Amino acid sequence: MNTQAAVMTETLPFTLPNIRGRYAFGFDLSKATWFKVGGAAEVLFKPKDAEDLVTFIKNKDPMMPVTMLGAGSNVLVRDGGIKGVVVKLGSGFSEIIFHGTEVIVGGACLDRTFVLACAEKGLSGVVFLVGVPGTIGGAVAMNAGAYGGEVKNFIKWVEIIGTDGALTRLQAADLSMKYRKGNLPKGAIIVRASFILQNGAPEAIHARINAYLQQREDTQPVRGRTGGSTFKNPTDMAAWKLIDQAGCRGLMIGDAQVSEKHCNFLLNLDAAKAADLEQLGEHVWQAVKEKCGVELEWEIIRLGE
Ligand SMILES: Cc1cc2nc3c(=O)[nH]c(=O)nc-3n(C[C@H](O)[C@H](O)[C@H](O)COP(=O)(O)OP(=O)(O)OC[C@H]3O[C@@H](n4cnc5c(N)ncnc54)[C@H](O)[C@@H]3O)c2cc1C
Repeated sequence: MNTQAAVMTETLPFTLPNIRGRYAFGFDLSKATWFKVGGAAEVLFKPKDAEDLVTFIKNKDPMMPVTMLGAGSNVLVRDGGIKGVVVKLGSGFSEIIFHGTEVIVGGACLDRTFVLACAEKGLSGVVFLVGVPGTIGGAVAMNAGAYGGEVKNFIKWVEIIGTDGALTRLQAADLSMKYRKGNLPKGAIIVRASFILQNGAPEAIHARINAYLQQREDTQPVRGRTGGSTFKNPTDMAAWKLIDQAGCRGLMIGDAQVSEKHCNFLLNLDAAKAADLEQLGEHVWQAVKEKCGVELEWEIIRLGE
């Protein structure tokens, strides 16, 4: 009997399955997101491996909400926190397996780790991911992209655990991933993905890696507390240009700021609340609508209460 689960039944409106991984109760999510804001997760669950996660999903209370979190680099967790269980994959989901130009990688592996490991093997294709500070799970879920590259162009298959707890392999052709949209079944958890890459000279790949990292350093507040691009680019338009035209560059609410360096990025300068950041984003949205006649779409995923 998992003693943690027994304790939980007394303090929460749901029971928790017995698992081999770890539960953390009242976990402060500002420690797990790039913005460094947000309330607590009622429960944070770190599964040991895919089998453990299957056990959890199959045996959980059907009324208990489950939210998936990667590296927290594209989410804004609200100040009231997240009800139910937040799942975060750990080291049991980080393996990288090479089969020639096919590379199978775990959902918790960081994009940068993946790109560098591929570069060492002389494999290119996903080099554009090097400066994206998320996990492979997040990259597939968001169809991450940069410098003209997109995850969807390199995916062969994705292994998911569905809301019924079934571990399924979905072929890329069945996903129809779109701009910043993985298009996975609702509630699916990505545990592994297979990429088809191209052979290349390691020195040339490393030169591209360095160039991309430098370009980011020059144009984005990469060392700030941010969530990356706040809004998706509308077709044939750059969101940052619209935000600039609407006069929002540098705008502040409390300690939340529209970045001076890249105005599609919001920043927590120090002690911003999630509410300040969200209010600032909504203000930008309204200003762009009024001044440019464009209704932007949030790219940042807002979670919680
Ligand atoms: C400085 C900076 C620069 C960035 N630059 C780029 C860029 O160039 N291009 C770009 O596309 N993005 C960029 N981003 C945004 C972000 O890094 C990407 O969207 C990234 O892919 C998100 O991965 P994550 O692991 O952090 O996911 P999170 O932010 O934790 O989650 C994002 C979404 O993915 C879901 N998710 C995460 N893991 C899984 C999983 N295993 N299974 C199912 N769903 C999952 C979450 O539920 C959530 O809906 C940037 C962010 C920052 C802070």
